[in-house]
Amino acid sequence: MGNRGSSPRGNVSKKKSEVSPVVPSEYKAKRNFSESPEPTGGGVEPAGNIYVVQEHHASHLHWDFRLERGGVLKSWAVPRGPPVKPGERRLAIAVEDHPLDYAGFEGVIPEGEYGAGTVQIWDRGTYEALKWTEEKIEIRIRGEQLSGSYELFRFRKAGEKEWLLFKKKEEPARG
Ligand code: MN
Repeated sequence: MGNRGSSPRGNVSKKKSEVSPVVPSEYKAKRNFSESPEPTGGGVEPAGNIYVVQEHHASHLHWDFRLERGGVLKSWAVPRGPPVKPGERRLAIAVEDHPLDYAGFEGVIPEGEYGAGTVQIWDRGTYEALKWTEEKIEIRIRGEQLSGSYELFRFRKAGEKEWLLFKKKEEPARG
């Protein structure tokens, strides 16, 4: 959004972000914003490392696990909730990218609308990506409920959108 090169510190300043917020078209197409209180998107500048989990009491209860990447929130629906114990893994189904504003959203999506039901923030914080490929994502989460090393990897036997979210065992810190 303009002005990017005009920092008073000039060239030595660290660029705030190379990425602009994106309102994903699939997200927009699925929703009727005259009925749903969900964010229309575009109002939040990328921080680069948002992590959030929203508990979503839709027709089937699930937890939406979201990681900021490339100006959007990459999102997975986790039917049983994210794993909290090392060694646990849970099915995570990739869903459409969400706009960054969604990280702060809580509310009730009315009956008859896409995703109807209550959305509450279950956990929030930041994360660090150690590896991010088409097949495997390795992250370190710093949230209030979840922290430590997690992996998401494709579960191709189950389908194209299926992943597994895995809580790794922590390696002992080295002296
Ligand atoms: Mn959901």
